[in-house]
Amino acid sequence: MTILNEILDYNQQFVEDHEYEKYETTKFPNKRMVILTCMDTRLLELLPKALNLGNGDAKLIKDAGALVTHPFGSVMRSILVAVYQLQAQEILVIGHHDCGMSGMKPEPVIDSMKERGITDETLATLSYSGIDIEQWLQGFENVNDSVAHSVDMIKHHPLLPKGVPVHGLVIDPKTGKLDLVVDGYQV
Ligand SMILES: [Zn+2]
Repeated sequence: MTILNEILDYNQQFVEDHEYEKYETTKFPNKRMVILTCMDTRLLELLPKALNLGNGDAKLIKDAGALVTHPFGSVMRSILVAVYQLQAQEILVIGHHDCGMSGMKPEPVIDSMKERGITDETLATLSYSGIDIEQWLQGFENVNDSVAHSVDMIKHHPLLPKGVPVHGLVIDPKTGKLDLVVDGYQV
């Protein structure tokens, strides 16, 4: 059975059995916060449990590395929508130790792309179009610095209203322990 069929089969039963009833909530976060974190598989259940978050408690945005790569990209837009339309009053950026984006170099990624059929010609076209693919695929060196940088970008975004605390934390993907990097109430 394919993954997709497995999901669809399970889903049919899930709905028939009314399993969803215990998750019923609204689109507004009970705890009035929006969290930006990493897509790491280890955080899928661990992060909400370690923060005592249940369904409906927070808006959760995930990408590779908990990064805001562009001030007008979809991550920043999601944060602004959460603040202006969905009643989020505080923002948390949560990076983690042993992140796939930590120390990520563009070269091995580009090599994998080539093995999967992306041609030098395509890469050259991007380059001549002014797209720095190597820069785009560059990870970060230090998770604390990366979290602090994301907090800084969000905090100083021209469209973020004054007085919204932006906190920065790093989570241990094994124990769930949080370390505070930026206390948003202090800045
Ligand atoms: Zn990660």
